[in-house]
Amino acid sequence: MNGITIALSKGRIFEETLPLLAAAGIVPLEDPETSRKLIIETNRADVRVVIVRATDAPTYVQYGAADIGVVGKDVLLEHGGDGLYQPLDLKIAKCRMMVAVPAGLDYANAVRQGARLKVATKYISIAREHFAAKGVHVDLIKLYGSMELAPLAGLADAIVDLVSTGSTLKANNLVAVEHIMDISSRLIVNQAALKLKRETLAPILDAITRVVEA
Ligand code: ATP
Ligand code: MG
Repeated sequence: MNGITIALSKGRIFEETLPLLAAAGIVPLEDPETSRKLIIETNRADVRVVIVRATDAPTYVQYGAADIGVVGKDVLLEHGGDGLYQPLDLKIAKCRMMVAVPAGLDYANAVRQGARLKVATKYISIAREHFAAKGVHVDLIKLYGSMELAPLAGLADAIVDLVSTGSTLKANNLVAVEHIMDISSRLIVNQAALKLKRETLAPILDAITRVVEA
């Protein structure tokens, strides 16, 4: 197929990518929030959007089921980025990867004393690398959602999670104690598509690059 398939997840990534696509002259014809369709046509006959789970976007692009996609740096780091060309930081869906603990815990002291911390997270690779670089011994516990619950329920001493406003942490009596990295969403491109579909892809990538840098 000579057309272009774009992998997007519902919610903030879809919404914040819309203006970038519009700058490239691409307008999806349906809203995934109201439509149940998983393949959405656009105003261009040769461009379609597939609606994927955020964590699945790199997989679709890696295997060429989508030519390009938009994915959080968090998801990309956990995926590993194999087979993906990453030309652009789109500067959307911005947040921070943080370590958070219950408000009463003296985190600095616990770390200093070499306590073995139990850390619950969805982001095992990012957490492992962060604590290894600091020489802090941790037991990582993989979760798939609501990390904030883990310390409250006694599952873990700390969490590694995304924070934007901090209101979810606050509501659950947790405080952020370490900033691991800034997160934003990236454009990812299938490496083969970049060569084979260059004529169609290049103008789209150029238009998105211009609007992101403007
Ligand atoms: P799901 O909500 O289906 O479990 P998800 O949490 O991975 O999946 P989203 O909530 O749409 O999906 O998040 C997509 C991306 O947006 C994340 O990978 C991250 O990069 C970024 N993100 C997550 N939470 C926030 C936030 N509160 N503010 C800004 N960006 C965020
Ligand atoms: Mg979410």
